[in-house]
Amino acid sequence: MNRRTIALGAAVLSVITLVCGGTVGLPLLMFGQAQAEAAACEVPSLPGASPVPGTGSWGSAETTNAATIVAVGRQRQVPPRGYVIALATAMQESELRNLANANVPESLRLPHEGVGRDHDSVGLFQQRPGWGSVRERMTPTYAAGKFYEALLRVDGWQRMRLTDAAQAVQGSGLPEAYQKWEDDAEQLAATVLGLPNIDDIGGGPPTAPCGVDDLGPVPVGPGGWVQPIRAAIVSSFGPRGGRLHAGVDLSKADIRGDAIRAAATGVVEQVKCDWYTTCDRDGNTRERGCGWYVDIRHPGNVVTRYCHMIQRPEVSIGQQVTAGTVIGFVGSSGGSSGPHLHFEVHLNVSPGPYHANGSNAVNPVPFMRAQGAPLGPAT
Ligand SMILES: [Zn+2]
Repeated sequence: MNRRTIALGAAVLSVITLVCGGTVGLPLLMFGQAQAEAAACEVPSLPGASPVPGTGSWGSAETTNAATIVAVGRQRQVPPRGYVIALATAMQESELRNLANANVPESLRLPHEGVGRDHDSVGLFQQRPGWGSVRERMTPTYAAGKFYEALLRVDGWQRMRLTDAAQAVQGSGLPEAYQKWEDDAEQLAATVLGLPNIDDIGGGPPTAPCGVDDLGPVPVGPGGWVQPIRAAIVSSFGPRGGRLHAGVDLSKADIRGDAIRAAATGVVEQVKCDWYTTCDRDGNTRERGCGWYVDIRHPGNVVTRYCHMIQRPEVSIGQQVTAGTVIGFVGSSGGSSGPHLHFEVHLNVSPGPYHANGSNAVNPVPFMRAQGAPLGPAT
């Protein structure tokens, strides 16, 4: 091996070797394979389109119609607030039933779940002939699609009161009537998405135009969890150099400054720089610790930890966060050889900010897979 080869080899090694917490990590082999970030306003996948059981005060037919309305919104990449408005509208117009109309004989010969008699309106949204043929308006996917098309043309609809946005589409004689359904609609949207709460859709409340910080909602697993960042696993959980590497390292090309998200709903328990000499600049392998980091306590005494942020995190102690909330940005502070997120999961952590440690750390890879939010780049 000549001198030039040796020098080149050393230079490559210094680029691709990722070091975290003072010990040497695995080679960072994933450069060049970085996946695009999640598309803005991406939302969770839905269960199949087959009939679903009733929920709350809604029967199976009504809940199935609700699932269809949400599925059409998702297919059209409508932000989650749109599902809530569409559901509230259909609750008011038809109580989520695909209605025929006694004044429209053709409608009575098509599959229906009740008979109304308001003018010549039919279907879930009680649409009149200008919206399509009788058969089209009584096809739930068509009716929902036409509703969303009209909603998306309403300037500023995401920031309006629910009833104002619905009324801008419907032109009803009772413009206030949609508002009373808002809570029901939020709950039903969450239920058909398999989430405990519509806020758990990630990235911010359903009223946020496209999630917090314009970064948008992110896909949420069935358990309400999201990836903290979409990047490759470049170093595993487990023993390393005689110590426990208590988390996984996630990285990819050009990751410095990328957003780090809360993995689930919870309360921020710790915001700290535990190696202040490198808080706002890159650390190195001779130093130890997390640099700027955040701990979040989730229901069930689960704590997640996010290390090596580039600067003071975006959240403060005691702050409530939802899955997908941006909590900080990727850096290399503390015991770190290059920009990455060191992510830890701790179980059965007794209350208090200093109880997440090596004794209760678990491998984040199977844990996150079990939450329906597996780590790693997009597939
Ligand atoms: Zn690490």
